[in-house]
Amino acid sequence: MTDSFDNVIIGAGPGGYVAAIRSAQLGFSTAIVEKRDTLGGTCLNIGCIPSKALLDSSEHYFRVAHELRDHGIHTEGLSLDLAAMMSRKQAVVAKLTVGVSTLLDQNGVAVFHGSASVPEAGRVRIEQKEPLDLKARNIVLAMGSVPSELPVVPVDGSRVVTSTEALEFQSVPKRLIVVGGGAIGLEMASVWARLGSEVTIVELMDTILPGWDVQSTRTILRSLKKLGIDVRTATQVTGCDTKSRTSTIETVDADGHVEKFAAERVIVAVGRKPYGLEDLKHLAIKIEDGRINVDGRFETNVRGIFAIGDLIAGPMLAHKAEEDGIACIEAIAGKPVHVDYGIVPSVVYTWPEVASVGSTEEELAERGIDYAKGSFPFAANGRALAAGEADGFVKVLSDSGSDRILGAHIVGPNASALISELVAVMAFGGSSEDLGRLVHAHPTLPEAIREAGLSVLGRAIHATPKL
Ligand code: NAD
Repeated sequence: MTDSFDNVIIGAGPGGYVAAIRSAQLGFSTAIVEKRDTLGGTCLNIGCIPSKALLDSSEHYFRVAHELRDHGIHTEGLSLDLAAMMSRKQAVVAKLTVGVSTLLDQNGVAVFHGSASVPEAGRVRIEQKEPLDLKARNIVLAMGSVPSELPVVPVDGSRVVTSTEALEFQSVPKRLIVVGGGAIGLEMASVWARLGSEVTIVELMDTILPGWDVQSTRTILRSLKKLGIDVRTATQVTGCDTKSRTSTIETVDADGHVEKFAAERVIVAVGRKPYGLEDLKHLAIKIEDGRINVDGRFETNVRGIFAIGDLIAGPMLAHKAEEDGIACIEAIAGKPVHVDYGIVPSVVYTWPEVASVGSTEEELAERGIDYAKGSFPFAANGRALAAGEADGFVKVLSDSGSDRILGAHIVGPNASALISELVAVMAFGGSSEDLGRLVHAHPTLPEAIREAGLSVLGRAIHATPKL
């Protein structure tokens, strides 16, 4: 028997499962196929959620070990139970993945487990003991992405690993090398450095977080150094020797200076690439720059086959995939859709965190756009000082003529949450004047956003006046 559905979604990550729920909400008969045993994709199983669990746990450990004494709190006999930390992380993952399963169930989405292929438009095959074919009026590809490889540092899954295994270490490596100073590299380096590893980050470009606001990257670099992390930028890895008990990485910097670093573990975090494109070759789906090409309705060049999330252009972020998923289904339902990629926020969960939305100063300068800049340091924010979290700033960039906000960058405590205000104001076409006129509760961290808005206009209240 062949089951028939309006929409069959392949992949139950944040893009896929959100698309499935929206599809069911709109009255479509909906199925989702997932090859993992658990739902939630990379984000819930081996990405955003377990890494945040470990980031939070390691942050607590670090604070107790190094920062509580500033608050007059002294502790003795501090010890780390890594196994307990790991099982807590796993419990968080389990709770959320089961939660997704319940949500899909409650929405009447049919969930199939098994590896899916698309023999032709309109048909999805699920490889199980008995292969099963589903008829689909529309197919939404949401298979996500996998880590990119670095041929010179081949991953062996034990000593040289990706972020997946780095979330599972059973002991704190004495020495750790992280290849790649992007989001994953900085987050994994932070976790293990806080727990006691001696960490070296090797980054190919001349900065960590290439493409981010330069002032933000400099501030984060300082905080990583404070954590004891050795950051080598403009440095290329030329070899990796894993023959002895420790792995040795050979690098060469921009001046041709060759160096060797030995470590128990090496994490390779040099980006991610779409998953499963080779299996779609027979469909002749158009690929551009390694990503599936879609139109404004998320439809590929093959009628009835859609793609979202990491498979298509744009930042590889869970929340971007969710927006794609909702918009794709609404487009299938004939609704007008528009995802504003210009206001998709990005966050890296170092401490302090770094968050960004819209353009950077560097981009605006390159595009020849006249902009005004205002910034406000957390060192002048009462709540940040009370919390002992004075590192970082809020920076707002607005159009010199209209004052419309073009970008905002935050380094600071809970920057991940603070950036939402900027996203909201930008979504409504707001200006720095608007930020300055919004009432913010006192004393709170978001007051720094208001002050940064006022600072664009030269009217910050808690800043030294320009005379
Ligand atoms: P990334 O693209 O963020 O960073 C990869 C880094 O590796 C870059 O800085 C790059 O210059 C560097 N690099 C590339 N080749 C190198 C080489 N040969 N030697 C040394 N460095 C090299 O990728 P990622 O950190 O692997 O993350 C993958 C994806 O997942 C990204 O799209 C990222 O945005 C996303 N992600 C997001 C978050 C978050 O939002 N907090 C967290 C984790 C991952």
